[in-house]
Amino acid sequence: MKLENKVAIITGSTRGIGNAIARLYLQNGARVVICGSTEENAIRATQKLKESFSIFEEYLLPVGVDMKDTESICKMVEKVISTWGHIDILVNNAGITSEKSILDSTDEDFYEMFDVNVLGLLKTTREVVKYMKATGGVIINTSSMVGINGGRNQVSYAASKFAVNGITKSLAKELGKYQIRVNAVAPGVVGTDMMKESVTEEMKQRLIQMTPLMKMAQPEDIAGAYLYLASDDANFTTGTIIQVDGGLVM
Ligand code: NAD
Repeated sequence: MKLENKVAIITGSTRGIGNAIARLYLQNGARVVICGSTEENAIRATQKLKESFSIFEEYLLPVGVDMKDTESICKMVEKVISTWGHIDILVNNAGITSEKSILDSTDEDFYEMFDVNVLGLLKTTREVVKYMKATGGVIINTSSMVGINGGRNQVSYAASKFAVNGITKSLAKELGKYQIRVNAVAPGVVGTDMMKESVTEEMKQRLIQMTPLMKMAQPEDIAGAYLYLASDDANFTTGTIIQVDGGLVM
């Protein structure tokens, strides 16, 4: 059990990649804060996890948090501290995507993308580091292959994920003195609701053909990198962006 006695916040953990990370962290002994965009979503996801892992019942804390709302983020962090007293791992995973030409993009599209993918991540990190700096810990950000290579009609999303990479490296430099490690994972194409909403079947087949491992990942294929980065196996690793994309970007 690589994460025994650890408390982990995982934003966007009601479904998709975040939910797979939550499952793996629970299997490795962590207590996990399940964050959903609403409290109902978080409670529903927690219920499902309890059904699959009955022994982990007291290891779950469901919290509704809107990544666009500073007060909501502060309340989530305060709830974790008042429940469990400390935070060892923060996974900044909540995110949105969009497929739009720059010519069709409105100011609101730009603001929304940055509100969730960048400002939400920065605010959550700031609030967590207020506590984590006393104990040390691990921060893992979810980037994307689009944050390395860009993407056609994905200019807002790409900008937000390039920002995530810059934040990762800057915070690794700034927070190392507190023994806080900061890394990112850049997934390729993963079969989640987000992917289904933004990638057509034809695009999906094209991406599979372009991937050396000739398949599309499932969330469970991505979660292992988050376990490695959160565990002591990575205790001298900070400021890295690990690509988990079947070789699509190289
Ligand atoms: P998903 O849509 O299944 O999950 C996204 C999660 O973020 C959900 O739990 C959702 O509730 C949460 N979220 C979105 N907006 C929020 C808000 N305003 N407040 C609180 N929570 C909010 O998507 P996923 O594919 O699991 O994506 C997870 C992360 O992985 C994202 O950061 C995404 O950019 C990244 N990613 C996904 C892929 C892919 O192919 N699926 C590839 C690369 C990177």
